Amino acid sequence: MSTDENETAEDSSANPRTESVDVVVVGAGTSGCYAAATIANAGYDVAVVERKSAEEAGHIACGDALKGADAFPDAIPKSQIEPAFTNTEVDHGRFEIPQEDTVLDIPVPGELAVIDRWEYGRLIIEGADEAGAEFHYDTVVQDVTQDDDGVVTGIRAKHDGDVVEYDADIVIDGAGALSLLQDKVDFSDATFDTNVSYSQFCSAYREVVEVPEPVEWSDALVFKPADVAAGYVWYFPRTETEINAGLGFQMTEEPMKLVDDLKKDLRARPEFEGAEVVDKLGAALPTRRPYDSATAPGYMAVGDAAAHVNPTTGGGIAGAAYAGAYAGEQAIVALEDDDVSEETLWRYNQRVMDHFGGRYASLDVYNILSTAVDVDDLMGLIASLPGENLAEALYSGTTSFSPALLLQTAVSSYGHWGQIWNFFKVKRLADELMAHYDRYPTRPSALAGWQDERDRIMDEIYEVTGADPKY
Ligand SMILES: Cc1cc2nc3c(=O)[nH]c(=O)nc-3n(C[C@H](O)[C@H](O)[C@H](O)COP(=O)(O)OP(=O)(O)OC[C@H]3O[C@@H](n4cnc5c(N)ncnc54)[C@H](O)[C@@H]3O)c2cc1C
Repeated sequence: MSTDENETAEDSSANPRTESVDVVVVGAGTSGCYAAATIANAGYDVAVVERKSAEEAGHIACGDALKGADAFPDAIPKSQIEPAFTNTEVDHGRFEIPQEDTVLDIPVPGELAVIDRWEYGRLIIEGADEAGAEFHYDTVVQDVTQDDDGVVTGIRAKHDGDVVEYDADIVIDGAGALSLLQDKVDFSDATFDTNVSYSQFCSAYREVVEVPEPVEWSDALVFKPADVAAGYVWYFPRTETEINAGLGFQMTEEPMKLVDDLKKDLRARPEFEGAEVVDKLGAALPTRRPYDSATAPGYMAVGDAAAHVNPTTGGGIAGAAYAGAYAGEQAIVALEDDDVSEETLWRYNQRVMDHFGGRYASLDVYNILSTAVDVDDLMGLIASLPGENLAEALYSGTTSFSPALLLQTAVSSYGHWGQIWNFFKVKRLADELMAHYDRYPTRPSALAGWQDERDRIMDEIYEVTGADPKY
C-alpha cells in the first residue's frame, strides 16, 4: 500500500462516512433477505450490508434441497422464488447403506424441491429490494458499536478501502455460520448464547456436476454414510442431468479430505462417467441446537448465525427464512414502541423455539448419539428397520411408535435388540427434552432456571449415549 493510500485509509477511519437507518441487516442470504423484506414492507428504512459483489451475492454453498417452501413466510411472495425450483418431482429419500448392501426408499412428507440455489439467492434479493430494502454490496462488516449501557447501536464496515459506519436502532445479524459480529459484541449484560464452539459444527463441501445421461434416481434425495463417524455423502438431482453432490463431517471427528473423498465417491459411480464439474463451494454448517437466546439489546441473530438448522439433515433454508421474518416482525414492534431492550425483542426467541427450535434441539440428540456409536452397527440397525418406522422417526420430530409398529420393528430387527433398547431410552430423553422446550421462558430473566433443567436432561443423554458432552 502506498503512503497516499495509507493516509486515505487513516483519514476515513478517523472521519468515516455514516449511514443512518432504522435497521441494518448484515448478510444478503435467506435470513437477511426475509428480515429486510419484512421490515421494508412495514415502511421502515432498512439497509442490507453484504460483503460479496452484486454479481456474486446469493451464491451460497448448499445441497440445494428446499423443504417446506409451500409454507414459507410471505414477506417475499412464493411466486418470486418459484422460478428457481428446477426439480419438483422429488418425493423420497434414498438411503444407500453399502455396509449392508441395502437401499432404503423413505417417503418425505410435505413439499420438497431441488433448486438452482444461486438463482434462488438472486430472486430473494430481488424480492427484498422490491419490498424497499437497500442493498450495499462489497461492504465487509468488521465491528459492532455499542453504547455505555451495552445497547448495540450499529456496525462499522469497509467498502472500497473506506470505513463506513451504520447507525441503526437495531442490528440483525444474518452473517451466516460462525458470524464475525458475535466476536465483536460484548454480551456480558445479555442472555445471548455464547456457548458456541466450532466442534458443534459440520464442515461441508459440494460440487454441481453435469452428467451425460439422466440419472435413474431423479425423484429422490440420495444419502450415504461416509467412512467416518457422523460423516455423510449426498446426491441431490437439480434436474435429471445436473446433480448437487456433496459431503460433510462433524468437526469433532477426524477431518475428511472433502474434495478428494468426493472425487473418489464420484469415480466409483457409473452414472458419473464423463461428468463435468460446473461449480464448487464449501462452508461450515451449524449442526447443533439453536442458540438458547439470539437476542441482546438492539441486536438479533438469525439463520445460521443462530444455528437455525435441522441438525440431522443440515437443512437450514426454511429455518433461516422463518427466523428472518420473525426477527423482522419483532424489530417492527420494537421500533413502534421505541424500545429495543431484550424484554421487547424476547418474543422473537419464543417464536423460533415454538415453531422449530424445540424440535431441532431434540433432533440434535440423535446427532449426539451418532458420535458415540459404531457406524457399521448403526447402519446394520437402520437397514433392519421397516421404512415407514424410519420415515416417522425422521419427520415427526417426536416419535410415538404404535404397538403394532413397535412389534414389527422388534421382529424385523432381530439381532439388534440391544441397540434398539438403547435407542428407545435415547428417544424417551429426546421427547423429554422437546417437552422442556415447550416450556421455553416468556421473559429473559427466567432463562437461567430453564437452562439448568435442560442441562440436567442433557447430562442424562450423555450418560445413556456414552457421548462426550457437546455443550
Ligand atoms: C455444503 C452445504 C450444504 C447445505 N445444504 C442444504 C440443503 O440442501 N438444504 C437446506 O435447506 N440447507 C442447506 N444448507 C444450509 C443452508 O445453506 C443455510 O442454513 C442457509 O443458507 C442459511 O442462510 P443464512 O441467511 O442464515 O446464511 P447465509 O446463506 O450463509 O448468508 C450469510 C451472508 O452473510 C454474508 N456475510 C458474512 N459475513 C459478512 C460480513 N462480515 N460482512 C458482510 N456480509 C457478510 C455472506 O457473504 C452471505 O451472503 C447447506 C449448507 C452447506 C454449507
